[in-house]
Amino acid sequence: MTAQLIDGNALSKQLRTQVAADTVKLKAQGLTPGLAVVLVGDNPASQVYVRNKVKACEEAGLHSVLEKYEATLSEADLLARVEALNNDSSIHGILVQLPLPAHIDAQKVIEAISPAKDVDGFHIASAGALMTGLPGQEKSGFWPCTPYGCMKMLESIGYDLKGKHAVVIGRSNIVGKPMALMLLQQDATVTVAHSRTQNLKALTLQADVIVAAVGKRNVLTADMVKPGAVVLDVGMNRNPEGKLCGDVDFDGVKEVASYITPVPGGVGPMTITMLLVNTLESAQRALSEKQ
Ligand code: NAP
Repeated sequence: MTAQLIDGNALSKQLRTQVAADTVKLKAQGLTPGLAVVLVGDNPASQVYVRNKVKACEEAGLHSVLEKYEATLSEADLLARVEALNNDSSIHGILVQLPLPAHIDAQKVIEAISPAKDVDGFHIASAGALMTGLPGQEKSGFWPCTPYGCMKMLESIGYDLKGKHAVVIGRSNIVGKPMALMLLQQDATVTVAHSRTQNLKALTLQADVIVAAVGKRNVLTADMVKPGAVVLDVGMNRNPEGKLCGDVDFDGVKEVASYITPVPGGVGPMTITMLLVNTLESAQRALSEKQ
């Protein structure tokens, strides 16, 4: 058996076309969705991420602003910038690129973002929204982009999570934990594994769906996967040849799974796409509040 690919590039293209079409409609009503991306310091990976986010906005017709600051920017000055963006009616989404320099309390900065503009979904209000609603049904807050992208990938293959056993490997606040809550919202039975988990293989062998979000190569190998399982690979690592790869031993696992996401071209492009989806959603909420 060879798994079918869940193509993150193709699905992203489809969703971004929809975002662009909805943006045209919003503009016709006098509102242009706007995203502000704030970068502090010169972390090379962050520079690539913010550039890609701004480029994706432009391609979909959204307004975007990139604010770049020296690594020496004070926490107070960053908080003041966030407050100004909270009050800027042309901005519907605020993203402060992480990591921040060590002298800045990242959580404090995230909590300073208005929940109505927290399109990254990291605010505590967004965590609360995860407990109470499905996307679009929350009153405030947004689903974090990477796990939200994973849910879209499952939706794209028509996968019904009801009663299925999902194993999430990784429990970070930005991927593993919100992923587990989203799967739970869709009536899956969820197990969350982490670095202290004993006998991971015994758990993954029971899983109908496995989400690997660890950041280590070959965390999931073919012998750990039940035939026909769906495997989503969030990991981003480099192999010894310097090639981008995920947490999953793709070549082995694809012979056992029914569906699998590749790296690159899987979850990665979906993350930026869901940022656009959240920014559009935020603008739509702002418009309906005005009406
Ligand atoms: P993180 O904060 O480092 O969390 C990693 C998690 O993996 C932790 O919960 C850790 O457990 C767990 N873990 C470590 N070793 C393990 C093992 N041997 N078995 C089981 N669990 C283990 O990382 P993250 O931010 O969630 O990101 C995870 C990966 O996804 C990274 O490769 C990152 O680059 C990638 N990522 C990709 C995207 C995308 O757009 N594609 C977005 C975000 C992240 P403890 O909690 O016990 O330490």
